[in-house]
Amino acid sequence: MSTTALRREAAPSGGKASPQAVPRLVLALVALGAAAVLAAWWRSTSSVTGAAGWLTGAGRITGLLAGYLAPILLLLMARIPVLERRVGGDRLARWHAFGGRYLVYLVTAHLLTITWGYALTDGKNPVAEGVEIVFHYPEMIKGTLATLLMLGTGVVSARAARKRMSYETWYYLHLATYLAIALAFSHQIVNGAELSVQPERTLWCAYYVLAAAVLGWYRLLLPYLRDRRHQLRVHSVVPEGPGVYSVILRGERLDELKAQPGQYFRLQFQTRALRWAANPYSLSAAPHPNFLRFTVKNLGAHSAAVAGLEPGTKVRAEGPYGAFTHVKARSPRVLLIAAGVGITPIRALFETLPGQLTLVYRAGSDAQILFRSELEEIAARRGARLVYLVGSRRRHRDTLTAKGLARLVPGLTGHDVYLCGPEPMQQSVIAALREAGVPGGRIHHESFEF
Ligand SMILES: Cc1cc2nc3c(=O)[nH]c(=O)nc-3n(C[C@H](O)[C@H](O)[C@H](O)COP(=O)(O)OP(=O)(O)OC[C@H]3O[C@@H](n4cnc5c(N)ncnc54)[C@H](O)[C@@H]3O)c2cc1C
Repeated sequence: MSTTALRREAAPSGGKASPQAVPRLVLALVALGAAAVLAAWWRSTSSVTGAAGWLTGAGRITGLLAGYLAPILLLLMARIPVLERRVGGDRLARWHAFGGRYLVYLVTAHLLTITWGYALTDGKNPVAEGVEIVFHYPEMIKGTLATLLMLGTGVVSARAARKRMSYETWYYLHLATYLAIALAFSHQIVNGAELSVQPERTLWCAYYVLAAAVLGWYRLLLPYLRDRRHQLRVHSVVPEGPGVYSVILRGERLDELKAQPGQYFRLQFQTRALRWAANPYSLSAAPHPNFLRFTVKNLGAHSAAVAGLEPGTKVRAEGPYGAFTHVKARSPRVLLIAAGVGITPIRALFETLPGQLTLVYRAGSDAQILFRSELEEIAARRGARLVYLVGSRRRHRDTLTAKGLARLVPGLTGHDVYLCGPEPMQQSVIAALREAGVPGGRIHHESFEF
């Protein structure tokens, strides 16, 4: 499949809102919702007296906030296009993980303060009170199961635990949160004092129903409908370098997906071994109405299996996702920095980003340079600069530094920078760029780990 067939015109650029606008708006809306939840507690609480009153109050507040936060965490991972495009999957995943930790803290605080508060009110020891609550209050078995499932998910999501299991095992264990949230909902509706009055009760139910509808649409129905509409299949698998293969998918009406260079899809190859995993891979060329190209480095079970895919294999492609696109660029001068397989989204952007481009491509050896002829053809056609940094890290230790980058790229601080590579390399290059005076809002990076 030649690059001419995959070539597309440069994307438009001028008159854009700040890349931080949508992320800030989302966080502001989440905070506003939390304030509304606290207002509901305030509205339904006439007074708080004594230790028992304060503990019970704290228990009700933490319970409400946990009940409010749970659907938010699901919506962050619901693959909502505007969030995926304008916030980005890696940042959404970080917010989700951060919020997940706080959900576990809130649920634990809710459980401890409510039990203690009630125990002080009833003049009982907290353990006896806890047993009484679980086995004699309505919907408390469900509430307890929900708490155990959430705490369990918190444990398996701890970094130490995740390291000990495959991504798929962790992913399917993590789905238990859906059950936990459904069980917790009925506990909230029956036991939540604030939710026994109107309009709080109706609003709360509407909030949960809306969250469930959004999830059902974007995580279940839309991928199924798109599957049927675009009929994606493996067209061919092409070796690109040591342990690296491009898989070209063929399909119908792919331009309807409105994929942008720099974005990724979650690919689910419909073979016996691979159909349970949907792994993220970036487009490694501009999208074409009938073809999508992905280039995969063999890093584990799923990525290794790509090399052996048969032409004609059905593929479910969820997406496009990701905010690593032309939308972020503000300056007519762009520096693209890639290392290793991080060249994939950068290769697609190099072909289409408008402006005066410089591509700095770091690779351990000449053999590891992917798409060499394509990159040189694009550079020649677009009058762009292409710099290979080949060899050991030691050999180039002074290049990807503040001084090194300023020397390599004249007018560095006036550039937008797109960066993709191994996480440690990304962190050190971002620090070097900041030290060289490149504003944070001009540094865009895509993480292959989230
Ligand atoms: C936004 C994004 C774009 C990517 N683009 C490319 C690309 O263009 N080319 C390329 O070679 N690689 C890309 N990757 C990395 C690729 O997804 C992983 O290397 C691959 O999923 C590893 O799966 P595995 O089963 O082969 O290995 P494993 O041994 O299972 O996993 C290796 C690592 O990949 C992570 N991983 C595994 N499965 C998933 C999953 N379903 N979702 C998220 N992370 C997972 C694991 O946490 C682990 O850190 C991208 C990753 C992300 C997040």
